[in-house]
Amino acid sequence: MAQKYRYGEMTWPEVKAAAQRPCVAILPIATLEDHGLHLPIDTDLMLCSSVCELAASRAPDRTVLVPAINHGYSPHHMDFPGALTIGPHTLIDYGLDVCESLAHHGFKRILIVNGHGSNTPFADIIARECVVRTGALTAAVNYWSAPGVRETADALRESDAIGGMNHACEFETSLYLALRPDLVDMAAAVRELSHRPSKNYWTDLIAGDGPLVMMEHWSRLSRSGVMGDPTNASAEKGRALLDAAANGLIELVDELLVRDTPAREDHH
Ligand SMILES: [Zn+2]
Repeated sequence: MAQKYRYGEMTWPEVKAAAQRPCVAILPIATLEDHGLHLPIDTDLMLCSSVCELAASRAPDRTVLVPAINHGYSPHHMDFPGALTIGPHTLIDYGLDVCESLAHHGFKRILIVNGHGSNTPFADIIARECVVRTGALTAAVNYWSAPGVRETADALRESDAIGGMNHACEFETSLYLALRPDLVDMAAAVRELSHRPSKNYWTDLIAGDGPLVMMEHWSRLSRSGVMGDPTNASAEKGRALLDAAANGLIELVDELLVRDTPAREDHH
């Protein structure tokens, strides 16, 4: 039988065995929220879960794919029908409870893979807290920041250098087109660059953000829900990005696996 890597498909002895071998538990975390007039509200969940699934399927000997945390921090999207948000403390507690459970069962390396920009600080806190509370080496990454994704995206990019790849944009739409083209209505895709970047404030998934970290209500920033230019999206770009992101995650998995964890020393 092929090596199982999906956590939910395992029996408890299989979970036990996975935790005892060199293995990274991958925990996707996303949200449900508006993604323009052309993409489903599950975009962040679909993209993040799919990247993690592809990565784990390519490295089933050293990964376990935990079912995704579907819900995230999206209160600034509530002006658009569809967003389901959970509070910041709920998200931290939820993610930490899942990670602590994994650590309890013996997993010593956990990689939280986030698919929603506004979950970023919470994924960071969950990882930090899990390290402190359990000793399990726990790290967080946004899948679009995995090694190799930026280079791939830069090579494919046709949308504006700053802001063209933000939300329901060329990047996310291309990925969705590669996964479920039947759910993407390209006729309804609109270019919207309305987040009003200024000297120290700008956002872009690939180019990065300015020093001023700020998130306003989405309806103040976008009429359609789009931030960026999805009209340049294609399934071909999406397949290249998916491939790069999955390989990038495997690189992170391997880096975590070889990282040593020297004993602590209390200097009191
Ligand atoms: Zn998104």
